Amino acid sequence: MKSYLFTPGPVPLSQAACDALSQPAIHHRSAQFLALFRELKGNLKKIFQTQSEVFLHASSGTGGLESAIVNTLSPGDTVLVINSGKFGERWAEIARAYQMKVHELMVPWGEAVSVEEVSQCLKRDPLIKAVLCQACETSTGVLHPVAELGSLVREDPKILYMVDGISALGAIPLPMDEFGIDVLVSGSHKGLSSPTGLSLISLSEKAWKFYESARSPRYYFDLGPERTANDSHETRFSSPVALVRSLSVNIEILLSEGLERTFARVSRLSQSTVCVAHMLGLTLFPQSPSPTLTALSIPQEIGADQLKRSLETYGIMVAGGQDQLKGKILRIGHMGSISTEDQLYMIEKLITSLLKLNPKLSEEVGQLAMKSAREILSS
Ligand SMILES: *Cc1c(COP(=O)(O)O)cnc(C)c1O
Repeated sequence: MKSYLFTPGPVPLSQAACDALSQPAIHHRSAQFLALFRELKGNLKKIFQTQSEVFLHASSGTGGLESAIVNTLSPGDTVLVINSGKFGERWAEIARAYQMKVHELMVPWGEAVSVEEVSQCLKRDPLIKAVLCQACETSTGVLHPVAELGSLVREDPKILYMVDGISALGAIPLPMDEFGIDVLVSGSHKGLSSPTGLSLISLSEKAWKFYESARSPRYYFDLGPERTANDSHETRFSSPVALVRSLSVNIEILLSEGLERTFARVSRLSQSTVCVAHMLGLTLFPQSPSPTLTALSIPQEIGADQLKRSLETYGIMVAGGQDQLKGKILRIGHMGSISTEDQLYMIEKLITSLLKLNPKLSEEVGQLAMKSAREILSS
């Protein structure tokens, strides 16, 4: 049976990305690889929509978050973490591991942060040196007001604005320079539709100023020597050539489809899922949902685990809830290489499963929902 990955990371790969992974090995210091690497770095600036340089680390996304912190801050620095779920929590854990004073702005799971509250936190504590936030909090499906937070922080030379865009960049608008983001982190295996194993990071000029005085211990993730190596068209350490090739192929696909058209496609995947869920009596968990994934509240009578298992019998993998949301929500991803046919297959099986688990639903509602999904996807 074919496997369908509908998790919000890792995501399904295009055939071209898989082919790139299976090519013969080349050396990471060869002219061939370095030409590819140079071209990829240029293309990544278009995806980040920035004038700044974009760097790669061989790590999952979390390595990129750690890199953001160690390259800009020092032990004892005060940071404001917007904690609205698992990944906000992770920013706080990393900052604490590096001996920072962490102010957590706790946001109820499923809600977006209030810009006004962030503004008050900054006024109350003039020692705050960085605001750490997610674009999309993947554990709840929330989209935060990333642009508005950027406007709040950008005029202040003493505060950095760091955004974890791992489940956003490449799938929804996140223009680094326009939004006033000082440190933007991404990962290969979510919005960028590639295999797991690379994190990506870019620092604004303001963030590079912070780098000069940042005294956090760092070695592997130190961007200074990496920049020096990249300047002479080299990488500091062995590059995971296959992963870089695969990412590079996907970035080319993304740029040839165009950012706007890609965002519109992701939005249609999201809208079709949301529409069907509503027609079948389900509600969304987040109040301000991200188009990159749909987090559905699943009533106890239906059972999130049962629904997940039913989808698995059709080869479809979705994600459940984490921590307090275990058994309460299901998360369906809209990132990666998802064709209209794949999406219709997932929706059809979602409908079939819900009809099976909820005797109150009629066949007719199911058929109407399927029809609406087809219309949205072909619009
Ligand atoms: C997936 C994810 C991460 C990083 O997770 P890794 O498992 O280290 O790749 C961080 N932040 C967000 C918002 C994510 O979705």
